Amino acid sequence: MINPFSKLGISDDVVNAVKDLGFENPTPIQEQSIPVLLEGNNDFVGLAQTGTGKTAAFGLPLLELIDFKSNKPQALILCPTRELCLQITSDIKNFSKNISGANVVAVYGGANIMQQLREIRNGVQIVVATPGRMLDIIGRKAIDFTNVKYVVLDEADEMLNMGFQEDINDILSTTPDDKKTWLFSATMPPEVRRIAKNYMDSPVELTMGTKNTGNVNIEHEYYIVRARDKYAALKRIVDFNPEIFAVVFCKTKLDTQDVAEHLIKDGYNADALHGDLSQQQRDKVMQRFRDRNMQLLIATDVAARGIDVNNVTHVINYSLPDEIESYTHRSGRTGRAGKTGISICIVNSKEIGKIRQIERIIGKQFTKADLPTGFDVCEKQLFALVHKVHNVEVNEAQIEQYIPRIMDEFAELSKEEVIKRFSSLEFNRFLEYYKNAPDLNSSADDRGDRGERGERGRSSEGYTRLFINLGSVDDFTRGDLLSFVCNNGKISGKSIGKIDLKGVYSFFEVENANVDSLFNNFKGVEFNNRGVRIEKTADGDGGGERRGGGGGRGFGGGERRSGGGGYGSGRREGGSGDRRSSGGSGRREGGSGGNSGGGFKDFSGRSREDRGGSGRREGGSSDRKRRS
Ligand code: AMP
Repeated sequence: MINPFSKLGISDDVVNAVKDLGFENPTPIQEQSIPVLLEGNNDFVGLAQTGTGKTAAFGLPLLELIDFKSNKPQALILCPTRELCLQITSDIKNFSKNISGANVVAVYGGANIMQQLREIRNGVQIVVATPGRMLDIIGRKAIDFTNVKYVVLDEADEMLNMGFQEDINDILSTTPDDKKTWLFSATMPPEVRRIAKNYMDSPVELTMGTKNTGNVNIEHEYYIVRARDKYAALKRIVDFNPEIFAVVFCKTKLDTQDVAEHLIKDGYNADALHGDLSQQQRDKVMQRFRDRNMQLLIATDVAARGIDVNNVTHVINYSLPDEIESYTHRSGRTGRAGKTGISICIVNSKEIGKIRQIERIIGKQFTKADLPTGFDVCEKQLFALVHKVHNVEVNEAQIEQYIPRIMDEFAELSKEEVIKRFSSLEFNRFLEYYKNAPDLNSSADDRGDRGERGERGRSSEGYTRLFINLGSVDDFTRGDLLSFVCNNGKISGKSIGKIDLKGVYSFFEVENANVDSLFNNFKGVEFNNRGVRIEKTADGDGGGERRGGGGGRGFGGGERRSGGGGYGSGRREGGSGDRRSSGGSGRREGGSGGNSGGGFKDFSGRSREDRGGSGRREGGSSDRKRRS
């Protein structure tokens, strides 16, 4: 039987490569666009959501059209973010692995430019770039685009949203007039239309699905709650979906931190992703999410651009986006590659008008859903646990030796009794938590709006503020610091109050009752070969400067002890208060691994926040400057 990609005109080398990737049949966008693009003489506009297989839709035809005997750049792919740039590069490398002499380079900010220049000098046919760094390299006259035959503008709407219009103009002006331009965009606002008009000659237009319609695999739901109940509603949604793997969108960096911190404290496996994290920190967070070592990624719109993680089950709009168009991008993070997904909006009654606006834009109706009751959640969790126990893979070799003792322990109990007790393990925690759970649903005409922080806003009363000589220069996120303190201090995340992550040090609050044991447990704890120090701050310390110059990091203090006090394992130890710790989903991992490479190699005396500019997308400050 002829391979369906061969039928579309793709050569054997490439067909074999995509077979190795598990692509059996072309996705609809590939089916439609590959034959058109293979002709090589058309401009092209593809209106397609992310996750539909569009990289292969343009990548496979490009590989057929490029002359790999020449080592000159013949195709330039521009995309909005570093993440997407790396993803496209890796995809194209995979597609072209059987083509000898094929060279692809990724050009993006926030990484060593010399290495990129070297790769370009060595000869490449395909350049995948973010606009800022590309322009930088063009400015150095380090690349020759006179042989470029194809330019791909991927996620064109995003690039314009991010203020790259001028950069794109400048870059395109260095490419030949007779090149063909292929534009892909999830939405078609007038600015994108204008690009199509200005740069293209009667482009072939293909629309996947209905124009401006979100991915058909995504269901849209909204919940109406009082603003103060938003966080409780989020938790309830998460608890009701034990297998959730979600991106939660907030409007601001502070909100992402706030929500992530509270979720972590409440025992969830979450972390924040926003523009103020260093590139390294962001990579770490993303890697954990990609590896599914984290269940909830709390992100801002900008930081989440280019997130290309498959199998995201839910997108949760904790706050609605300011720009209604952004909703399409947010919801497009789920329902990728033919999977189904749910996009949820948690709104208050005043925001229903916005939901209607979004409905008009995406051409789809939202379902108004009711938040489950506490009882519903308990029931759902109970059966999730039962299911998990039923399906757990038993390591016969390892468990064997303990079976006699375990049998002994249960000798007096009937099978029914044992089952009841195992089931109760997790169930009790939920019962306890939800025993007096209120109905969080608010009616559309309930205008009660008493501020969002109600349930979460925990005052510092009852807490002691502590100094610790670790901070963001050690590659700690707030989540990392929380795990570190909980693991080493042997306390539950619930006992930790506000965390104030600084550069070389940080502050955090601990419930008064736990302060002494925390100090005891921290005796002798080290991080990267240096002693970790915790001190009480003076009363009235506003969280600003540490007395004594913030130094005393104790580099090299003391010999290295193996194991590092459990930090390396990154396990989130919930203690009895950690509702989710026994479910396996509560594992908090991965991120800390990155710390092992020598804590102060980045140490520059400035806090990480000082470096590289805030809100960077590509990491390079030069990119930032060009944003309009
Ligand atoms: P993209 O829209 O290019 O980001 O692709 C989304 C996901 O779908 C990626 O993980 C691709 O590897 C995957 N994918 C793309 N084309 C196919 C295909 N024909 N069959 C199966 N998976 C695919």
